Amino acid sequence: MPSSTTTTRDPGLRFTCQPGCTRCCEVKGYVYLSESDLPRAAAYLGLSAAEFERRYVYRTRHLLRLRKPRHSQCHFLQGGGCAIHPAKPTQCRLFPFWPELVGSRKAWRETARWCPGIGTGPLIQIGTALETAGEMREAYPSLYEDD
Ligand code: SF4
Ligand code: SF4
Repeated sequence: MPSSTTTTRDPGLRFTCQPGCTRCCEVKGYVYLSESDLPRAAAYLGLSAAEFERRYVYRTRHLLRLRKPRHSQCHFLQGGGCAIHPAKPTQCRLFPFWPELVGSRKAWRETARWCPGIGTGPLIQIGTALETAGEMREAYPSLYEDD
């Protein structure tokens, strides 16, 4: 319907994680850890940080990421859930309020195609979403240093 006033509904930033869903743990990609994620996850599993790193982490000069098992995206995706849920890495905890998603309507809409929580639940204030995205930047400075 042509109109001089916009008829496009702005869905805003709505999000509620859906019970039982693990889609974001299954999409292709890396799971990065902040320096403080590592000892927290280790302690949750009753391991030393060094042992956790030896078993599960790949460290580069500027980044830490979980090693990938051969047939899934994440070692900790077990029995339909996250085996380290209370101590999961920052990027998992903050999804989908990542800077690259909050800052791009297109990226947000594309992510909504596979994340069933996007577009549901209460409207999230943009300030709150940006604050959460800022937490991502702080946790992973080398991933966002060129922004
Ligand atoms: S894909 Fe979306 S709804 Fe599903 S677990 Fe991840 S954040 Fe929650
Ligand atoms: S650490 Fe947990 S939440 Fe993060 S990708 Fe792995 S299973 Fe999913």
